[in-house]
Amino acid sequence: MYKSEFSKNEGVYRFKIDVPFEVKFVCIYLLKIDNKNVLIDAGLNLGDWSKVFFSVLNDAKLNIKDIDYCIISHAHLDHVGLLKKFKRKNPNLQILMHDITNEILKWSTDPENFKEIEISANKMAQEMIKYGISDKQGKRISQFFTSWPKMIRYQKPDMLLHDGDEITFGTNKLKIIWTPGHSFGHICVFDQNKQHLFSGDHILSEITPHIGVFNISPALKDKYNFHNILGNYLESLDRIDKLNPKIIFPGHQKIIYNPHRRILDIKEHHKNRLKEIFDLIVDKPLTPHRISQIHFGEDLDEMNGFLALNEVLSHLIYLEHQDRVKRIEKNDKILFIAN
Ligand SMILES: [Zn+2]
Repeated sequence: MYKSEFSKNEGVYRFKIDVPFEVKFVCIYLLKIDNKNVLIDAGLNLGDWSKVFFSVLNDAKLNIKDIDYCIISHAHLDHVGLLKKFKRKNPNLQILMHDITNEILKWSTDPENFKEIEISANKMAQEMIKYGISDKQGKRISQFFTSWPKMIRYQKPDMLLHDGDEITFGTNKLKIIWTPGHSFGHICVFDQNKQHLFSGDHILSEITPHIGVFNISPALKDKYNFHNILGNYLESLDRIDKLNPKIIFPGHQKIIYNPHRRILDIKEHHKNRLKEIFDLIVDKPLTPHRISQIHFGEDLDEMNGFLALNEVLSHLIYLEHQDRVKRIEKNDKILFIAN
């Protein structure tokens, strides 16, 4: 049974439930605004997770039938899991998500596209092998990308959101800020009266969010020009900083009471990492995988090895867009070197 906890902070209900991933737990938030109940995110659909969620909701003297809106931060499976169940239990519930999040979910969960997803995941694995990972690791990554969409049940949203949308509740408004980086369609939700920000996985208290370089839908990458996703992420951070939120309620980890400081720290982290990676390839070309081994060690398991490669690559691509590094091909591998 997953561990769960309910607390109330600054008027915001926080449901914290364990997940069997490295992030340890997911937080679903509920805010009461002009007599409406608004839920942020929909957790995970795995084992008895939903049972645990409904019971912790009950601890807060609430029922899924009392919920008026559910706003989704992004398309990952620990944030959209229970949408279909929510809608079945409460047909009046209004589900809101960003246009791109809907596009990703609709496309990736349609069995008609599973073959195409498999081909795309294989291509991605081939690309990663060129970046230096082993064939075996490539195969595992391709299996992962082929299998996760099958874990999600698509639920059509009742309303599509776009950057800058405002949802009015009496005298208050929730503002939608599109923050691509961790995921293409990622949004943050800003309570304008209280200046609370619900950040999904865009800003976390202890780790810098994973930047999504690899994606099973290359068509989306072209359509929205997500070719330098770390660049998009850093721009998205600045947009949140400008809002000057008082408190950030993230999808994992601790509530953030000093948002500006946390944003500066994340920016500083990326600045340092850009420099460290650049310094490694000043006079000798290396594959992104080799750089990630130097950086994160050589004994990472397959998933962490993939995340490390992804982290390094997002920085290399950023440097490449600044014309500071270039790629060269040698023996079927791609290496990067400073310009
Ligand atoms: Zn997450």
